[in-house]
Amino acid sequence: MICPRDATPLLEERMHGIEVDHCPQCNGRWLDHHELDELEATRTKDEDHRSGTIDYARRDSELNCPVCSQPMTAFNYRAYNLELDTCEQEHGFWLDAGEDGQVRDIIDDRVRGRNRAVKAEQAWDNFLEGVGGGMWDSVRGFFGSRR
Ligand SMILES: [Zn+2]
Ligand SMILES: [Zn+2]
Repeated sequence: MICPRDATPLLEERMHGIEVDHCPQCNGRWLDHHELDELEATRTKDEDHRSGTIDYARRDSELNCPVCSQPMTAFNYRAYNLELDTCEQEHGFWLDAGEDGQVRDIIDDRVRGRNRAVKAEQAWDNFLEGVGGGMWDSVRGFFGSRR
């Protein structure tokens, strides 16, 4: 496999006990689809803390999957300000340098203040639903009434 950022051949590496593919050029890492959960499991064995939606605000990524070469999807991991890339064919996840540490920090955050994290995710869900429906109607209604 080659790095989706700079096409350098990826090297196998053990990270927190997980076999990942590491780019020696940019220090990014490719995790197989199930390995993101394994990375989360290095911080908590409690599945409740690892449940829920992880891919918020999905959008096109500029990176291609190193397995199938198809364009990947970028998303905000667990509604945090952390952008990861994933393959629609569930080949895996691309983590830029240092993002594996951020994933672990976010899981720690959920363990410490689960309710707070869940509220942030629900607020995001409500916002997205609002954009899809009622909110735009009220925005249009507002401008319409001023004409
Ligand atoms: Zn690279
Ligand atoms: Zn793929």
